[in-house]
Amino acid sequence: MVIMTMTSPRAFLPVLERIAEEIERTPGRGRPADYIPALAACDPRSFGMAVAELDGTVYGVGEWRQPFSTQSVTKVFTLALDLAREGDELWEHVGREPSGNPFNSLVQLEYEQGIPRNPFINAGALVVTDRLQTRTGDAAGELLAFLRAESGNSSLDFDQEVAASETQHGDRNAALAHFMASYGNIDNDVPVLLDQYFRQCSVRASCADLALATTFLARHGIRADGTRLLTRSQAKQVNAVMLTCGTYDAAGDFAYRVGLPGKSGVGGGIIAVVPGRCAICVWSPGLDERGNSVAGVAALDRFTTLTGLSVF
Ligand code: GLN
Repeated sequence: MVIMTMTSPRAFLPVLERIAEEIERTPGRGRPADYIPALAACDPRSFGMAVAELDGTVYGVGEWRQPFSTQSVTKVFTLALDLAREGDELWEHVGREPSGNPFNSLVQLEYEQGIPRNPFINAGALVVTDRLQTRTGDAAGELLAFLRAESGNSSLDFDQEVAASETQHGDRNAALAHFMASYGNIDNDVPVLLDQYFRQCSVRASCADLALATTFLARHGIRADGTRLLTRSQAKQVNAVMLTCGTYDAAGDFAYRVGLPGKSGVGGGIIAVVPGRCAICVWSPGLDERGNSVAGVAALDRFTTLTGLSVF
């Protein structure tokens, strides 16, 4: 069934309302991430979903204006910011193949000489942040400025408590960074890089903020102010890597169920892109065993099923 009023400026609101009702009736919602203690206290029954249209109209259901910890969702924006600066040279330092392994896995790195499989697992995101840091001197600050500009929300900020908690429990990310540094694939001092990376992951933003910030990918690379961040081809590349790698070792299942470029984070957020049409953000902090929001994936699955929109 397709429910959508193409003439309305809030064309997808009836779909979102229906999805929120369905999710409300669903009992199992997964468990919040507990390896970052500051995230463990989230209520797994929280749910919000927002759609941002190409003209910047944004609307949603549930807790769509409630800020949450963006975590790995930010990997999309740092990738775009670095790709815009250095272009294809980036791909000599990070691959673009699905890893088939958990997001914080070390196992492939030694076989593949310190070149991570893709920019959306932690190892790859560390490489991207390192390269953005070299080019800007403040990768996390660049990210925050971008998110504020695209969302129009100047109050977006880092969450010092979450960043500190990740630093305290950051042995695995530190191991990834040091290991890649041993192959010459990290430029900056590892503590500097980890500080930038943990602050990047700690940004708090709502579904409304993130849907708006993702709209440049639905606009084929054009930012909210009409300037171009990415070429049309680069925007296609980012969307393709989101589709194939954005939900880690569940990317195949996500493509099967949702059929859109998407990126999840352990805070329970997922962004998704309908190229040429809109951007979506959904949030619910209960995760499955691969680190993706249970209600978030279910809601996106229903969205593409009810609207008939997908890249396929
Ligand atoms: N900050 C988290 C980490 O590095 C991000 C992981 C995620 O959201 N999948 O472990």
